[in-house]
Amino acid sequence: MPPRAKLATAMLRTAAALSRASGRGDGSVIGGKVGLTIEPKLLQLLAAGRRVALISGTNGKTTTTRFTAAALEAAGPVATNSFGANMPTGHTTALAKARDAVNCVLEVDEHYLPRLMAEATPQVIALLNLSRDQLDRAMEVSGLAAKWRDALAQHPDVPIIANADDPWVAWAASGSNNVTWFAGGQRWQEDSWICPQCRKHLDRFGDYWRCTSCGFTRPSPTWGVEGNAAVTPDGSRVPLDLRLPGQVNRANAVTALAVASAFGIAPQQAAPLLVNVKSIAGRYAVVRRNGRRLRLLLSKNPAGWLEAFDMLEPMCPVVLALNAREVDGYDTSWIYDVDFSPVRDRRVIAIGDRRMDLAVRLQVNDVKFEVARDITEAINVLPSGEVEVIANYTAFQDIRAEFDRVN
Ligand SMILES: [Zn+2]
Repeated sequence: MPPRAKLATAMLRTAAALSRASGRGDGSVIGGKVGLTIEPKLLQLLAAGRRVALISGTNGKTTTTRFTAAALEAAGPVATNSFGANMPTGHTTALAKARDAVNCVLEVDEHYLPRLMAEATPQVIALLNLSRDQLDRAMEVSGLAAKWRDALAQHPDVPIIANADDPWVAWAASGSNNVTWFAGGQRWQEDSWICPQCRKHLDRFGDYWRCTSCGFTRPSPTWGVEGNAAVTPDGSRVPLDLRLPGQVNRANAVTALAVASAFGIAPQQAAPLLVNVKSIAGRYAVVRRNGRRLRLLLSKNPAGWLEAFDMLEPMCPVVLALNAREVDGYDTSWIYDVDFSPVRDRRVIAIGDRRMDLAVRLQVNDVKFEVARDITEAINVLPSGEVEVIANYTAFQDIRAEFDRVN
C-alpha cells in the first residue's frame, strides 16, 4: 500500500483501540472516520486483491453476514463487520483489522450498496429483501430498489445471489446478467402488491407471484429451504442444524451457503459450521434472571416484528419493548402496520420509552396487555419460566445493558 494508506490504517487502528479502551463501543465508526479522512480511497485500497462478499437488505443482513463468515472460515481467516457497523467507516475498519484475511464478508446498509459496489469490487453480492423501514427519514422501498437496479446495471457481470420471493429484489437484480436465485421467503408482503416494472396489480399464490399486465414473474430459484435442510442447485439436501430460531434464519443460512459456494466452499462443508453462530450482539441470546429464562429478539420494522412473532414459543409470555430515539426513528406510526393478533393468546407486557404508544396499538388490535416501566419490573410480575422479549433497536440495547451487555 502507498505510504499515506499505511499511515491511515495505523491511525484507524489507534483511534479504534482508544475508543474501545474508553468504553465507547468497538471503535469501528470512529476508526473508519479517521482512516478515510487521511486517505479517502482507503476502503478501495484495503479491498484491492481480496475476495469480498457484500450482504444487503432491510432485514437479516447481520445474521446472514455472521452465517457467511462462519461458513468461509472453512477456508481461513475472514474479515467482517460482524457487529453491524454497516456503513463505509465500518467496512474500512473491518478490512483494516484483518489485513491477512483474503476472504471478506461485509454487511452493507441498503443505501450504501452502490458505493460499496464501486469501491470494494465485490466477488459476489447477496440481496435479501426490501421493505419499509424508518420511512420518516429513509427512502421508500421503490426508491431503494431503483437505486440498487441502477448500481447493478453499472456492474452487470458481478455475480448476484438474490431472493426470488421478493418482487422488488427480483426487479432490482434483473439489471444484472449474472443472478443466482434463492427462495428466501417473504412473510411481509405489504410493500409488494404492485408490479415493480409496470405498477399494475401483482397476482400472488403462496410464494409464486406474477404480473398479469407486463408478465414480470417470480424467477425460478435454484437454492431453497425444505424443512430443516438446504436445497442446493444440484438438488441435494444438506441438513441445517442451526442454533438460531425461525424459518427466516433457515433462509438466511441458505443464502450464506450460496455465497460460500461462490467462494468455492461446498455447502456440505459449510453447513456444519453454521452451528457456531449462537447469538449476535445479544440477539437470540438467552438470559436467566430470578428463575426466569428470557430469550431476546431484536426487530426494528414491521417485517421484522412479523418474523419475530413466528419465532415465539407457544403460550410463552412476551415482553414487547419500544423506543423512538434517533437511531430508531422518532415516528412510531409504523406499529400500526404490524398485526399484533399473533400474540393474542398469551400474556403481553409493554415496556420501553414509548410503551404507551404500544399500549394504544395493542388496545386497537384487541390484544390484552399489561404495562411495566422496564424489563426488571416486567420480569417481577411474570411467573418463573420462559419469557420471550421482542425489542426495537435502542430498547434492545437498554435490555442488553440491564443484563451486563449480554452477547
Ligand atoms: Zn407488470
